[in-house]
Formats: sequence, structure tokens, C-alpha cells
Amino acid sequence: MTDITGERTPSTVRTGRWAWAVYLAFGFVVVVAYYVSLALDAPAVVGVLLYTTVSTSSAVAVLYGCYRYRPKPLLPWLLLGASVVIYAAADASFYVTHNIVGDTRYPGLADVFYLAHYPLVVAGLVLLIRLRTPGRDLPSLLDAALLAVAAGMLSWLYLLAPTAQAQVPTLAKAASLTYPMMDLAMFAVALRLILGTGRRPAAFLLLSTNLFAFFAADSIYVLQQLSGTYAAGNFLDAIWLAGNLALGAAALHPTMRSLGEPATVTDPGPGPARIIALCAAALVAPATLLVEYFRGKYHGIPVIAVACGLLFLLTIARLAVLVAQQRRLAITDMLTGLRTRRYFEARLVTELAHARRTGTPLAVLLADVDHFKSINDSFGHPGGDQVLIEIARRLRNGIRQEDVLSRYGGEEFAVLVRGAAADDPSNIAERLRRKVSGSPVVVRDDTAVEVTISVGTATFPLHGDTPHELVIAADRALYSAKCHGRNRIDVGPCGPLTAAGPNGTADMIAYLEHVADLVDSWLSNHEHGRAVSRWAALTAVELGLDSECVRRTSLAGHLHDVGKVLVPNEVWTKNAPLSEEDWQQVRQHPDNGYRMLCVVPGLADTALVVRQHHERFDGTGYPDRLAGDQIRLEARILTVCDSWAAMLADRPYHVPRTEAEAREELLRCRGSQFDPDVVDAFLRLHSSGRLGDLAQLPSATPAEAGR
Ligand code: GH3
Ligand code: MG
Ligand code: MG
Repeated sequence: MTDITGERTPSTVRTGRWAWAVYLAFGFVVVVAYYVSLALDAPAVVGVLLYTTVSTSSAVAVLYGCYRYRPKPLLPWLLLGASVVIYAAADASFYVTHNIVGDTRYPGLADVFYLAHYPLVVAGLVLLIRLRTPGRDLPSLLDAALLAVAAGMLSWLYLLAPTAQAQVPTLAKAASLTYPMMDLAMFAVALRLILGTGRRPAAFLLLSTNLFAFFAADSIYVLQQLSGTYAAGNFLDAIWLAGNLALGAAALHPTMRSLGEPATVTDPGPGPARIIALCAAALVAPATLLVEYFRGKYHGIPVIAVACGLLFLLTIARLAVLVAQQRRLAITDMLTGLRTRRYFEARLVTELAHARRTGTPLAVLLADVDHFKSINDSFGHPGGDQVLIEIARRLRNGIRQEDVLSRYGGEEFAVLVRGAAADDPSNIAERLRRKVSGSPVVVRDDTAVEVTISVGTATFPLHGDTPHELVIAADRALYSAKCHGRNRIDVGPCGPLTAAGPNGTADMIAYLEHVADLVDSWLSNHEHGRAVSRWAALTAVELGLDSECVRRTSLAGHLHDVGKVLVPNEVWTKNAPLSEEDWQQVRQHPDNGYRMLCVVPGLADTALVVRQHHERFDGTGYPDRLAGDQIRLEARILTVCDSWAAMLADRPYHVPRTEAEAREELLRCRGSQFDPDVVDAFLRLHSSGRLGDLAQLPSATPAEAGR
């Protein structure tokens, strides 16, 4: 029965389940009948008929199996089918000419057929191998090569070399040499198929039986021919017939359809049987050397030496692959295929050392799936696992080749970002967040689930100096992202970490940062303090400041306008130009900020930087009219970054400038308002595209945000 597309339906397949066994039973009866006919000296035609019945039936069985089960793709089986058809023609031709006509010329027409069947078998097997392991399967390739080298050496020494020396006509010699060589090629490909990954159902075992039976019978046949012990109708016929029956049965077995399916599990490593086989193969060459020594023949020493060398090299290569495999397993998370936490931590240590040596930034991103427990509760652990696998895939697509992505914990992932991109990891974090939440994940029975992640980032040297500090900073940022509603990203804290600073310090700083952000949202649609903090840190790194200074600059950058919270609301909301009295209020903000920061233990230096951020290099700034080196370098950096942000922003009291205009302005005031070295460093960063844009604030307009 076929369906509308011509597919065999399952019920049809079920009714033919035992066809292969029936075929084997039939074949067994024919083989027994063949030997009985020989024993009873029946007319030659009876033996020939019985013998060719087996090979012909095998050809019919393979073609019928192709029709019945329609394996996809069909080509490998068609090639095997064609090979067995030709083999059947060879058998028929051989036994008719030898046993009935009495023509025993060698080589004859039968040999042309016999030899023609090998390339078809090899092509069919190679196709099956490609289908079963679409990528590379180096371990099985090496294993097969090792066994094939051992077999090749024996074949060379005991089949090919004696055949080459035999005193026979050239054509006969060429044919006799071609058989063992073809057998060897078929054997090598068969080994690769059998040792490779992929399912090994009954049809696979039957096909393997066919290949080994032919290789064994053909090899023994040549040996018997060379030693003059071959007699027509001996046990070899049984092996050839059994091989043919095995191929026919393989094609009639329902599992023949699955032979070309790609392997789903990766190579689990060699089992004891394979190790014993490989050891035995590796010992074949030295054992042969001993045999030759005791026989006193020293026969084929160069060939044995080459084989010894090849076997040794293959063994070492296999060992290297095995070690690499084990190493990969040790650093690979089994569920998601990502790197493990252990690997991530080891890489963080080496990458941090490299970043410190080269003065390049390094960023750590920690991502945690939001409300993952409820996904597990709704879909069970396997459903949750499916979601984790999909999230891992999306994250992998969101990072660059050189970044390191790992599964950090149950539903937590960590990314190590190296190089220039680490300057501002929030871009990457945001990209990853969007990748994950972009479209629902399909879980079991086609249910779509909305999945989001929260991400915390931390950058060296800004947020930490050691691997531990960086991870803690990223974790705190992640915690902050969770606290602020999830499905968002947050940047690590710039102040001293809780573990290092006095009790409560971190909370105070976090609160001041919150106030600074709030002030920014009142005054503009754009971020301000956070951008100044980012640029100031980059400039500090560019100027070669130590990590403590970089962090101080960054924190002061974030908090530099926090004192504006004490400037009366009317000043900011005024429609008319500011009066001198208003300006006096505005000019208070560096001192306001200074006083607010002085309250926090350990922030005295940062407070001073905030106080000085409106001083000018030429001594005309406020509040203290400091000049040149009297102004702390961190404050001179802030002045440039603050002005850059102010020039680009769209504020009620001025029109935004283009970046080119802002550059010009910095250069115009280089040496008067701004420290020339700082301007140069800042413009270098700008020219190399490392500054990034001023981000639009996601929240309300200043009016809506109202105080
Ligand atoms: P939050 O948004 O605060 O992160 O909430 P959450 O539910 O994601 O966090 P919580 O830490 O309470 O729960 C994490 C859950 O992740 C609990 C644990 O059972 C589950 N989990 C951890 N590892 C695996 C895993 O390998 N497979 C599955 N399916 N679940 C896991
Ligand atoms: Mg978690
Ligand atoms: Mg979670």
C-alpha cells in the first residue's frame, strides 16, 4: 500500500517485517541443497542453478527492498543493488562457462563482472558514510586506517607479492593482483563505515556481515590458489553464498531505511572491544617481523618497517585526537554545548593578565534567565532544558567569534568580551537581551513561550581589577537589573565594592548614582552622567592612568552633576534667559556635589574631582579659579567629556552641535578651557570610533518626569 505521495505506509512496512528472515531461511535451504548436490555428484547444471539462485535472489532482494522501503536517499542502495546484479551476472557467467561449457580460461568474462562490482560497492558505502557522519569523524577514520594498514601489510606480503612473482601470463597476473587490491579498498571503506558513528540496526549488521564475508572468502581464495590447495566447491562457496544472502536480507530488513540517517550522538570514545582490535592491529607488524625472523626468511622487511612506522604514527594521532576529545568534553557543557564555568574562569584569569599587559579593556557579562523557575513549573525539566538550549543558541549567534560564551550556572550564562568592544559592553549586552527576547521559544507540543534575560556587565579596569572583583561587579549589576524589573541590562558599580569598602558604602554610592540619573532625566532626553562616566574612563585609560584613578574618574563622571538636585526647580523650568542670581545658583552645583560625596566614607578624592569639574585650564573657571596642574587630572578629563556631552545634547537652552562642530570647539578651546593633552586623548578616541553615541533615555520627557 502506498500513500498519495508514493510513500510506503507504515502498515505495509509492518506486514513485511519478517521478509528478511524468510529470505535467510530460504537461502539456507538453497545452500544446503547446493552442497548435497555436490556430495551426490548431481549433474553440474543442478549445482550451477542452485549457486546462481542465491546471488540472483540477492540482487532481486536488494532491488525489491529499495522499492518496498524507499530509503532516502535511494542512491547508496541503488549502487549496492547494481553491484549485486553485476555480481550475480559474474556468478552465472563463471559457473556456466566453467562447469557447463568447460571453458576455464582466466581471466574471462566473469572476471570483468566480478571486478566491476567493487567500485559500485565502494561508491555505495562512501555515500552511506557521508550521510551518517556529515561532518568529520576523525577518530573512526584513524581507527579504520590503522586496521586497514595492518590488513594492507598482510595482503602485500602474503597475497600481492607472491602473486606478482608467480610465473603466469601478464593478463592473468594483472587480474590476480587486482582482486586483492579491490578487496582491500572495499575492506578499508567498510571499516570506516562500521567504526563510524551512527545507528547500527539489524540491516547495518547484515550489510557488515556481507562485506566481511566477501573480504575473508576472497583473501582465503587467493591464499589457497597460491598454495595450490583450492578445490572448487569447498567451504569458501558457503562464505560467498552467506555474504550474498546477508546483503539481500539487509535490504529486506525494515531498518534498511535508517542506514543513511545522520548520527545523533557524538562519538563516546573507544570501548574495550575497539581498543583490543586496535592493539591487535598495531601489533600485527612487529608480530609479522618475528614470524619472518623465526622462519629465517626476512621477507618484505621494508614493507613491514613502513607498516610499523605508519601504525605508530596512526596510534599517536589517535592518542592526540582522544586527548583533544577528552579536553573538549571537560570544558563543554553537556546540555547546551557551551563552555563550562570552569573554562570561563580559567580564561578570565589569562585574558585579564593579557588586558593588563596590553592596556586593553576586558568585559564580563553575566546573564540570567528571568523567571525560569516558572518555565520549569509549566513545562517540566525537559521543557526547561529545551528553552536553555535555544537561549544558548541565540546567545551564541549574538557574540563574536573571539568572545567566550559559557554556561555559568543552571540558567545563568557568562560572556567574556575582549578588545575594543569591551569598552562599552552594554551594546553587546543589549544585543544579547534582544536576541533572546526577540521571538518566543517553541517548547514541547508547539507551545510558544516568551523568554527574557537580565544582564549585568563589568569592565576592567573600570569596575574591577581582579577576576573576582569583575565577576562580583557584573553580578551586582545583574542583581540591580533584576531589582529594576528584569528584561534589562545594567552596568557594574564604579565605587568600591561592598566586600572592600566600609559597610553601607556601596548602597550610598548606588543611591547617589540613582539621584544623578534622576537629575539627568529631568534635564534632558539624553543620558548624560553615564555617558560622561564612560568617556571619562576611556580617556583616563588612554592617558595611562592607573585603575584606581580610572575608577575614580568614572564614578566622578557619573556623579558630577548630582549637586544640581539642590538647585531650585524654577531655575530649570524658566522660559526666560537666566538672571545672574540664577547663574549663581547653577554654579553652586559642583560644591553641592562635593558636599554630598564627602558624606560617603572613602569618597573624599572623588568629591574633589566633582568639585573641580567646572574649573578651566586657564584659571577662569569656578568655584576656585584653579589653573593647570592645580586642577586634578580626573577633573580636567571630566571637563572635556562634560562639554562634549553638553554640546551634543538637545537641551532647552541650546541647539545641539554636530560631532564635527563639537570637535572644532574642543580644538578652539584647547589650552584655554581644556587641558591640551586631555583634548588630544579624547579626540583620538573619537577618531577611532570608540566613544559611541549619546543614548536616548528610554523614560519620559523632562516635563513628564517632573520633580
Ligand atoms: P529570576 O528571574 O529571579 O532569575 O527567577 P528564576 O525563577 O529564573 O530564578 P531561580 O534561581 O529561582 O530559579 C532558577 C531555576 O533554574 C531553578 C532551577 O530548578 C532551574 N534550573 C537550573 N538548572 C537547570 C537545568 O539544567 N535545566 C532546567 N530545566 N532547569 C534548571
Ligand atoms: Mg539564577
Ligand atoms: Mg533566573
